[in-house]
Amino acid sequence: TVSERDDVLSRLPIRDDLRGKVPYGAPQLDVAVRLNTNENSYDVPDEVIAAVVEAVRREAKHLNRYPDREFTGLREDLAAYLGHDLTADQLWAGNGSNEVLQHVLQAFGGPGRTALGFTPSYSMHPIISTGIGTAWVDGLRGTDADVFDLGLDLTVEQIEKHRPDVTFLCSPNNPTGTALDLDVVRAAYEATDGVLVVDEAYAEFARPGTPSALTLLPGRERLIVTRTMSKAFALAGGRLGYLAADPAVTDALRLVRLPYHLSSVTQAVARAALWHADVLLATVEAIKEQRDRIVTDVAALGLPPAPSDANFVLFGGLPDAEATWRSLLSRGVLVRDVGIPNHLRVTAGTEAETTKFLDALADSLLD
Ligand code: PMP
Repeated sequence: TVSERDDVLSRLPIRDDLRGKVPYGAPQLDVAVRLNTNENSYDVPDEVIAAVVEAVRREAKHLNRYPDREFTGLREDLAAYLGHDLTADQLWAGNGSNEVLQHVLQAFGGPGRTALGFTPSYSMHPIISTGIGTAWVDGLRGTDADVFDLGLDLTVEQIEKHRPDVTFLCSPNNPTGTALDLDVVRAAYEATDGVLVVDEAYAEFARPGTPSALTLLPGRERLIVTRTMSKAFALAGGRLGYLAADPAVTDALRLVRLPYHLSSVTQAVARAALWHADVLLATVEAIKEQRDRIVTDVAALGLPPAPSDANFVLFGGLPDAEATWRSLLSRGVLVRDVGIPNHLRVTAGTEAETTKFLDALADSLLD
């Protein structure tokens, strides 16, 4: 039983700082409309399936050999995709950007060191930090009047106060959705001696005129910009995340990665997807339309949304967010309770999914 397992767990010689911790756990439920982990709802198109299968078929014969430890071709393809005059030696990849973030923390954080983030933000930043023994500081995002706005002065003030070895910014921010002004990134970089990570997992969904922190990389050797193929690229199952930084940063990450951490299959699948970037990214505009529709429609229901540059919307005004979450689930729609009182987060899916969500939400308000 669960309680017997808990008893055994409490007797195990597990690290003291892991006792009582709760694992990352977005529910994976078998529900018709799954809008809780910000995936791309569109299936992989046939054309890309064919390319992926062919790429894996070519690798199959050589699975007796270890993969290219330096994932050279993949790094070249990622550099070409990102542009900004980036070169392959500035790129690094892992099994999801979570692993890339873990590499960063292993190299620049660790026992006796501190990481700072600004809550509410991506829940894995503190989990990955503490998982490898980095002290986590929960920074504040803003004043009471506007809790989701990360102000420049408050950011700099907290960096100067805590002097973190690793600072996390997230733009567009999960779970709030809003992109960050590059002035804040520049000021945060000036304020810290540690590394500054800008998590841009949702960059492809940003509204026009939102520049990426990639533009700030030249001359900033402690700046790291992370991306993922899990969202816009519709490749969450493929597990491929990456970062761009100074080539010396990738040398540092090579010290902590496990050899051959990216399987030949992963490399082949990711490259086949990158070669079809135009096809895969064709869904982005449709998703942004649904995102903007959600913003308009929840506001009309009297539930204030945070402005979003991502493929999800955080909205408030719910007297009992948990009850609404359950009510939506009973109507076949799974959204995310991110633990912010009176708020829920919903991923923008297909038009049909969005309609089901909006209808279910309107109904649930009558419960
Ligand atoms: N960063 C942010 C802000 C995210 O929301 C996510 C996924 N939810 C990730 C990183 C990690 O994604 P993955 O490991 O699939 O690349």
